[in-house]
Amino acid sequence: MEKIYDIITIGGGPAAFTAGIYARRAGLTVLMLEKNIPGGAVAITSEVCNYPGFEKIEGPDLANRMFEHAVNLGVEAVFEEVTSTDFSDKIKVVKTFAGTYKARVVIICLGAATRKLSAEGEKAFIGKGISYCATCDGNLYKDKTVAVVGGGNSALEDAVYMSNIASKVYLIHRRDEFRGDDILVKQVKSQPNIELVLCSKVNKVEGKERLENIIVENIPNKTLSSLKVDGLFVSIGRGPDTEVIDKAVACNENGYILSDEKMKTNVDGVYVAGDIRNTPLRQIVTACSDGAIAATAAFQYIKTSK
Ligand code: NAP
Repeated sequence: MEKIYDIITIGGGPAAFTAGIYARRAGLTVLMLEKNIPGGAVAITSEVCNYPGFEKIEGPDLANRMFEHAVNLGVEAVFEEVTSTDFSDKIKVVKTFAGTYKARVVIICLGAATRKLSAEGEKAFIGKGISYCATCDGNLYKDKTVAVVGGGNSALEDAVYMSNIASKVYLIHRRDEFRGDDILVKQVKSQPNIELVLCSKVNKVEGKERLENIIVENIPNKTLSSLKVDGLFVSIGRGPDTEVIDKAVACNENGYILSDEKMKTNVDGVYVAGDIRNTPLRQIVTACSDGAIAATAAFQYIKTSK
């Protein structure tokens, strides 16, 4: 007989782990669908210093601990990318490249996806010189020339991180002031192999098999220059990606999913937790909190709607 789970979590980061832990402890069956490694953004964060109970812990370590906690309680983890969802009936349908899964409740825990530059040619060089994660791919650029784009804490950290691996780092930012913390700005400015390229944006990326050049526009002067780089790290923040979510689910004007205080969306049986939700704070601790609330509300819903 076809299996119907109580809950499917779409995404496998802290929100999903916590939802899974609470749901399993309440006796519900849970399937977690994740396209990459477990942990979401935490799994690629070098250090976490603000999760209570851990003064300092490596992101992958915290992610693995949470994942193991959920799996040891009986959360079923399947590593497949979700391609579409249909929430029109009481039983919700989630399709991946490999199969179709059904559940009474779906909790959307997709996190926020890395923002793309929208530079000409960007898509063609992803994984061939363009990366959205310096801690994941930085080691491939030992003694090479790279550029980092962005002006927030992530870009500043990535520039410093890459300056210890690459021979030269261009830090390209669209304004002449950084959004990131002063302490990181000072670190960037003290690294002799980091060159600041301010008030500038990357318009185009070029190369044969791999990235070779980037075309940079100086915004006030509208002048173009070509920089020869082996790698380009795009570090311009994150945003929601709801492409695979049933269009009946309501989002705000920026694409984040709307919910009530119980994490319920406008669709019965569909909840949301973590960074993809319309929330004032996107942190590991708030994602966990959302997950716990969503699972508890889902338990009540399943109990009363059977
Ligand atoms: P962020 O703070 O949102 O910064 C994004 C940066 O990218 C901004 O400088 C922004 O420019 C630029 N940007 C955005 N869209 C762009 C585009 N289309 N083209 C070019 N540039 C673009 O993102 P984040 O640095 O990833 O940080 C996210 C959150 O995590 C922040 O709250 C941050 O403080 C936190 N974080 C903390 C640490 C730490 O404490 N060590 C480390 C990493 C991240 P503008 O400035 O002009 O808007």
